[in-house]
Amino acid sequence: MRITVLGSGTSHGIPVVGCDCAVCRSEDPHDKRYRASVFVEGAAGEMLLIDTGPEFRLQAVGARICRLDALFYTHSHADHLHGLDDVRPLTWNGPLSVYGNPATIQDIRERFRYIFEETQPGGGKPKIAPSVVDGPVVVGRMTVTPVPVKHGLLDIYGWKIAENGAVFVVITDANFIPDTSFDLIRGADCLLLGALRVRPHSTHFSFDQAVEVLKRAGAKEAYLTHLCHEHSHEEITAYCGQTGLKVLPAFDGMRVDMPPSTDWD
Ligand SMILES: [Zn+2]
Ligand SMILES: [Zn+2]
Ligand SMILES: [Zn+2]
Repeated sequence: MRITVLGSGTSHGIPVVGCDCAVCRSEDPHDKRYRASVFVEGAAGEMLLIDTGPEFRLQAVGARICRLDALFYTHSHADHLHGLDDVRPLTWNGPLSVYGNPATIQDIRERFRYIFEETQPGGGKPKIAPSVVDGPVVVGRMTVTPVPVKHGLLDIYGWKIAENGAVFVVITDANFIPDTSFDLIRGADCLLLGALRVRPHSTHFSFDQAVEVLKRAGAKEAYLTHLCHEHSHEEITAYCGQTGLKVLPAFDGMRVDMPPSTDWD
């Protein structure tokens, strides 16, 4: 399984429009962060996507995504959903299966109403087949399981992707993980976890809270994502270094191979 982080930024991305703070002006390419999205390739050629943020077109072109077998949504906030229309060229050969919880699928049907309505001939629309799921979905040899978490008052999903004994978990936006979900993710080989900043936030884990989650989950390696402009990549790397855990900040374009394999190149 190969994971590509397409976007590692919080809802406004970095640089933030109109901001001239040190991080937004940074020349370190790691400090340029698109909105949160992850591309996952299976060993048998499966191609999965988690979320379509507003930069999905740029991310897909950059990562040379040429096919998708399934699209999984964490939730329907704009920074995770609003690039949906740009999956269009990837659905020319047939509808793309889209999975999410009931609120997310309902929001997709409302915000992208034109996709499901009859419109005049000639206008291109993505072909998608949305499904509400509350249990595992099998795509090729991969099993993708929703991990229910709390994002403030909202019930949203993280996703656990298992293939041939390797387990990758992505939880982008959360400030609480119930015990039953810890049971799902415990001992994961890799955990990509949303952590906004040092200061507390009402709907996202802070760095310290994320570290507590990592300790409890016992993931073998971890990356922080959904990062905001209050800290540079360099500063977050330094923070991670003093946790005693195998954790680093994610960055756009970051790749993780699990288990480490030389078959890819
Ligand atoms: Zn978000
Ligand atoms: Zn800034
Ligand atoms: Zn959100």
